[in-house]
Amino acid sequence: MTKNDFSGFCALLQSQRKQLLGEMREKIASIEDGPDFPNQLKIADNDGLPDAAAEMNDAMVERESQELLEIEAALARISDGSYGSCSDCGDEIGGARLKAYPAVKRCLRCQEKYEHTHGQNHAA
Ligand SMILES: [Zn+2]
Repeated sequence: MTKNDFSGFCALLQSQRKQLLGEMREKIASIEDGPDFPNQLKIADNDGLPDAAAEMNDAMVERESQELLEIEAALARISDGSYGSCSDCGDEIGGARLKAYPAVKRCLRCQEKYEHTHGQNHAA
């Protein structure tokens, strides 16, 4: 992973993050547009969005908020320099896999193992 790769993935993650935030904001606003919605203020603040989404109990928003957290975590790994390494075994995840799933944190092998253990079947 070169510095150039890092900034490329960083830009990719930032734009995914921006898009997700926009979609979530719209969804939250359309579902909860009553005057008593307590999270109006929090939604103006990006950091409060995942919390607001978690309180909504909406499966779609919940998944997007999960995705958002994964993107945030990937951005954090870029800044601490651990981005691109598998969180389980420490091996390189590989450029092709990262391009397909920039927020992914495990190599394919560990992901398969993880999904096997946790019974999940989504690709990232
Ligand atoms: Zn691994």
